[in-house]
Amino acid sequence: MSLSKLDICRRCGAWCCQRFDYSTWFVRYSLWDILRISQRLSMSLDVFVEKFVHLLDQGSYAIPVIRSYSGKCPFLVDSTCSIHEYKPIACRVFPVRPPGCAYDERCPLSLHPELLVEEESLVPQYLYEHLRTEQLLCEYGVRTSRDLLQLLKRLVKS
Ligand code: SF4
Ligand code: SF4
Repeated sequence: MSLSKLDICRRCGAWCCQRFDYSTWFVRYSLWDILRISQRLSMSLDVFVEKFVHLLDQGSYAIPVIRSYSGKCPFLVDSTCSIHEYKPIACRVFPVRPPGCAYDERCPLSLHPELLVEEESLVPQYLYEHLRTEQLLCEYGVRTSRDLLQLLKRLVKS
């Protein structure tokens, strides 16, 4: 009997969701991830950013990533993603590595490309959201949570 994606992730024990160190492993949010997830959690942007966003310095601007606690993603509950349906686009394409069709070989799913059709199909959305996010963060010189909130609120109004 062939294994499903869920079976493989269950056997793996959510390896990819609990090894955050902000240097070799972290999950980047697109600006749209933050808007989507905060809305689905019925949380104000201010509270969401304070609780779930860490800013990683890139020199002239910073990028928003999932804030981890003890290396673990805060959305991981009992080895399951509690926001699976609306998790960040970076999580949704994993283990596909945009922009190409290479896979992160540390993920057991990389041995089952036939199961990764949905992940592959999300690569254009990933590229659009992340390239646009990078452009806006750079253009607005986002460095602090306050800068990020201003940019997010501007996006909501536009
Ligand atoms: S996506 Fe890959 S690394 Fe993450 S839990 Fe599933 S099998 Fe494990
Ligand atoms: S959002 Fe979900 S899939 Fe992404 S790292 Fe966190 S628990 Fe894992």
